[in-house]
Amino acid sequence: HDDTPVRVRFAPSPTGMLHIGGLRTALYNYLFARKHNGTFVLRIEDTDQTRYVEGAEDDIRRALAWTNLDVDEGPDAGGPFEPYRQSERAGTYREYADQLVEQGDAYYAFDTEEELEAMREEFGTEHAAAKYDASTRHKMRNSISLSDEDVQELLDSGADYVIRLKVPSDRSIRFDDEIRGTVSFESSGLDDQVLIKSDGLPTYHLANVVDDHLMEISHVIRGEEWLSSTPKHILMYEMFGWEPPKMAHLPLIMSPEGGKLSKRDADDLGIPVFVNQYEEEGYEPDALVNFLAFLGWNPGTEQEVFSLEELCEAFSLKRVGSSGTQFDLDKLNWYNEQY
Ligand code: GLU
Repeated sequence: HDDTPVRVRFAPSPTGMLHIGGLRTALYNYLFARKHNGTFVLRIEDTDQTRYVEGAEDDIRRALAWTNLDVDEGPDAGGPFEPYRQSERAGTYREYADQLVEQGDAYYAFDTEEELEAMREEFGTEHAAAKYDASTRHKMRNSISLSDEDVQELLDSGADYVIRLKVPSDRSIRFDDEIRGTVSFESSGLDDQVLIKSDGLPTYHLANVVDDHLMEISHVIRGEEWLSSTPKHILMYEMFGWEPPKMAHLPLIMSPEGGKLSKRDADDLGIPVFVNQYEEEGYEPDALVNFLAFLGWNPGTEQEVFSLEELCEAFSLKRVGSSGTQFDLDKLNWYNEQY
């Protein structure tokens, strides 16, 4: 039996208005936290300045408040690991990137855009991994072929650089997903991930791993689209000597016509994509919450209408399916009539 306190996080990037998939992720994290007397953390992952959308963070917070998903720790809510906005934690990520460089698990890469382009041409974009794998790496102007003095000289001269993770060339990386069981990836399919970008800010991968560790996150519950990032994260946990959190990847939300529900399908089918549209269209937040709870989870009983409290009581990751579930607008409207 495992008595690590449950701490989960909803970690959206403020790159647009919150969509229903994001709200479902937030909801499952919230339910899991409440079920286990745990803590629900909101962390704003805003280190990609090129994708930052003004007003997105407010929209996220407003959507959580509208659906009564109370945050225990986060921007505005406070907590022991402040700040919870990654753009305010840049120095921390840099220290950890430096640690990996010192350990020999990461390196400075000074490749110019033209050099990278030449590599993409040579190896093909589908095999982006090849461009930095062990056999080609030393041809590049990175710390393997450059001496420490060369690196220092380049740094002193103000040359642009990124810090990359040194991904081992042939490793099987396995982890147990709480929803899909054992998942394995071959490291040969992984690129030498950028950890620190040329603007000095971390990428999602570095910031996410460092924060999940520092914030003592026990379970990472996120959408299936992040599954392929997890092996990179597992490698980093190993390099840092940290115990990774438990992982749970939620099934995709599918279109009623099959396939992943895209914005375009949704528009064609009259399905609102953004949470604020539901609010504007007069949906009951409890109806949306009840509907989203069933989009991937089921209670294993006949009960269909639940209050948020009842959902907290009934929820279990064991009853979340691994295959996608279809969005059914009639079902949502049916829920809306129950409230
Ligand atoms: N910032 C990522 C997102 O926008 C978070 C993914 C994760 O939960 O690790 O969804």
